[in-house]
Amino acid sequence: MPKVLIVECMQEISSFNPLPSEYENFHVERDGELYAQRGLNTAIGGALSVFEASPDISLVPAIGARAGSAGLLSAHGWQRLSTEILDAIKTRIDNVEGIYVSLHGAMGADGELDPEGYLLSEIRRMVGPDMPIVISLDLHGILTDRMLRQIDGLAIYHTYPHVDFADTGERAARLLMALLQGGRRPVIARAVIPALVRGDELITRSGCYGDLIRECQRIERDGTAMAAGIMIGNPFTDVPELCTQVLVMTDGDESVARREAERLAQEFWQQRFRMQGKLIPLDRSIAQASTIDGPVVFTDAADATSSGATGDSNIILKALRDAGYRKRILAQIVDPSAAAEAHKAGVGATIEVTLGGFYDKTRFEPMPVRAEVQSLSNGRSQLETMKISLDAGPTAVLTFDNFTVVVLTRTVSLFDRAMYYSNGLDPQDFDLIVVKSPHTEHHMYDGWVEKNFNIDAPGATSANLKSLGHTICARPMYPLDEIVEFVPTSSIYPR
Ligand SMILES: [Zn+2]
Repeated sequence: MPKVLIVECMQEISSFNPLPSEYENFHVERDGELYAQRGLNTAIGGALSVFEASPDISLVPAIGARAGSAGLLSAHGWQRLSTEILDAIKTRIDNVEGIYVSLHGAMGADGELDPEGYLLSEIRRMVGPDMPIVISLDLHGILTDRMLRQIDGLAIYHTYPHVDFADTGERAARLLMALLQGGRRPVIARAVIPALVRGDELITRSGCYGDLIRECQRIERDGTAMAAGIMIGNPFTDVPELCTQVLVMTDGDESVARREAERLAQEFWQQRFRMQGKLIPLDRSIAQASTIDGPVVFTDAADATSSGATGDSNIILKALRDAGYRKRILAQIVDPSAAAEAHKAGVGATIEVTLGGFYDKTRFEPMPVRAEVQSLSNGRSQLETMKISLDAGPTAVLTFDNFTVVVLTRTVSLFDRAMYYSNGLDPQDFDLIVVKSPHTEHHMYDGWVEKNFNIDAPGATSANLKSLGHTICARPMYPLDEIVEFVPTSSIYPR
């Protein structure tokens, strides 16, 4: 009965977030604690459902570490995290025959800009060249040459906004089981595209990126490829191999892997202009929103905590106040000091605090408000789709004028309605809702609002990619540079 070792290490960072991540950002699960993901829409959850349905597999859950998106991981944090992960593997590796590693792919640490590559190369060193290692990745990950040289197979998310976490884990698990049966000669073709993309065309349900992903799914289904995907990278993770890339894995057929990877890369390249953020100036958005009857969303992708921003931008709140917008506004903001003041004062109290500009001081200036403490909570919630727990720390709902603002102590993902719901608020009760996310699942907002404005605002995860100031990724890179040439070629990674 083959023993399969399971490991997870997931984080996505924005190099433009001034606040470093620490070891404490990670939720670490050891041994059987990983089974807590059974039945969840996570990669591990999906992989478990496949492995546990197979009487031929016995599982060795080793360690899982998962952190919300944030700034670059500190050198000390990475040292501790990587040591714990590798030690956990080392002590459980006896008699293991295959390894599944659930990764995001967009980590970055001070002194190690390819953390996943380091982990995989250390695991490979431990187990030798013959043991199959299969990984799963977020399509926003940066799959590096060093990672590709260690692995036997991969599965990549096929949806954005992501809803196929478990499905990706299932594909990874099935791939590993196929490799464990032997007789396969996995070969991966990688076609790198010098482009960074953003915007609505990346929504796989409706955008042109989705059409290309459906080609990846088609060649997986019809047996052309064992796995295929297009990773667009996280444009905010400024690391040497940041890029868009097509990955096609076949069973021994190098020329088909190359052909498909290069074909999809060429098609992607031709559409790069469409896949850019279309942002609307804030003053124009407010003017339009004031004349629209139905509810509207102001999407603040520049302060998207799920992409690695701090969550303390008050740019939209300030502009709404300055413009004298009168309808009911709902928003969220990270501000530990205001949350603490509210908890000290208690429900019903009126407090004078500032909101925002707590971490990202160069971009945001604190905004003074005189607010009533409407309610208080411990900031615990669960993401709507993944059911992963959120812990924003002491949280307060503050109201002032026509504003209702959920004030969080810690930065957590805000792309769904979880933190609103858990603080007793329903976005449908408001006229203008600020969402700190690049996009949301359709039913959460877009399905019932009159218009969703993608606001042009400063921030560590702005869709205006040129505004960020990349210094590390390979150049030239579209759209950071004026002239970028592209001829599709692929590198081959055989095992
Ligand atoms: Zn992602």
